[in-house]
Amino acid sequence: MSITKKLARAELVDMVPYQSARRLFSSAEASGEEKLWLNANEAPGTGEYQLSCNNINRYPDFQPDNLLNAYRDYCGLERSQILATRGADEGIELIIRSFCRAYQDSILICPPTYGMYAISAENHGASIVKVPLVSTAQGMQLNLNALANQVGKVKVAFLCSPGNPTGNLLPKEQIIAAIELFKDSAIVVIDEAYIEYTGEFSSEQTSTSLLKEYDNVVILRTLSKAFALAGLRCGFTLASSDIITLLSKVIAPYPISAPVAEIASLALSTDLDKMTLRVKNCNKIKASLSAWLNKQDWCNEVFASDANFILFRCSSLSEKTRIFNLLVSNNILIRDQSTQMQLENCLRISIGSIQEITQLKEVLLGNLRP
Ligand SMILES: *Cc1c(COP(=O)(O)O)cnc(C)c1O
Repeated sequence: MSITKKLARAELVDMVPYQSARRLFSSAEASGEEKLWLNANEAPGTGEYQLSCNNINRYPDFQPDNLLNAYRDYCGLERSQILATRGADEGIELIIRSFCRAYQDSILICPPTYGMYAISAENHGASIVKVPLVSTAQGMQLNLNALANQVGKVKVAFLCSPGNPTGNLLPKEQIIAAIELFKDSAIVVIDEAYIEYTGEFSSEQTSTSLLKEYDNVVILRTLSKAFALAGLRCGFTLASSDIITLLSKVIAPYPISAPVAEIASLALSTDLDKMTLRVKNCNKIKASLSAWLNKQDWCNEVFASDANFILFRCSSLSEKTRIFNLLVSNNILIRDQSTQMQLENCLRISIGSIQEITQLKEVLLGNLRP
């Protein structure tokens, strides 16, 4: 037995890491061939940022001023309620490490949902309680009765709104009901990675106003989606100053590098209009792709989406496989979601540029129609 295997925590030896879009298809592997990346919910197009970086010999501030002030102005909370992290993913990990004792405590997730909650819990040795979403005419929603049964049994509950990969916002009343249920026993995390894409992004959709009334609420945000900065690795955890103080004890001492802080604060100040335009454009393309998918005879169901992707269900397993492979063989990468609970035969397309989506439709039309 190798020394690594002998010494490693046994449960990590056989653990499968998060199958991120980039691990499934790495960009290095793709070099040489033009690929359409429609599998990771990234925004199309690149921004251009001029860096000064004249203090790169120094460690950055723990929470750089320029960045924190820019996000405070953007989200309307106090600075003491904001923690900048390496993507929203780091926020997920910090919350689990801060609230769950390894091999004793549990988190709660509502599948189908974002995979990193379970991966971070597993990595840390926290157990996972699953309370599946229920399918309704208004989209996938919480099962509040089933959630009530878990009160006192979990430390952290993760809600994703808009949901990934389901796409829809959770009703505000349901989010409030869940927070009430766990008021004295668990932190309720609302993952708002896609909040900017919701119809008219406003105080109606975001849960930030709930931070005033409840001290068991945490909200996750990211610059990876609507701000088109997935490569930057910058996200934000919003919560009471008590919770932010706690998480600040667990996070690395210099989590945000100086170039990241510089680019992110530019995006949040001078580039807000670009973001709004990007979202509008995405939602337009999304609406027309959704209508188009609905007309295809191999498509059984198109999920409503408040995010920058569309989830759809194919008419059969063989159609799902055929469509996925046909796209791959034409260098178009989308995401297979069919192994998730309740998502048999489902695929997810990230909304790329108009050219990319047109190309995707052409491939599907040219090869699937008799
Ligand atoms: C993309 C995504 C994240 C992670 O965002 P990063 O800031 O890139 O780490 C978190 N939650 C959900 C639901 C996501 O889709």
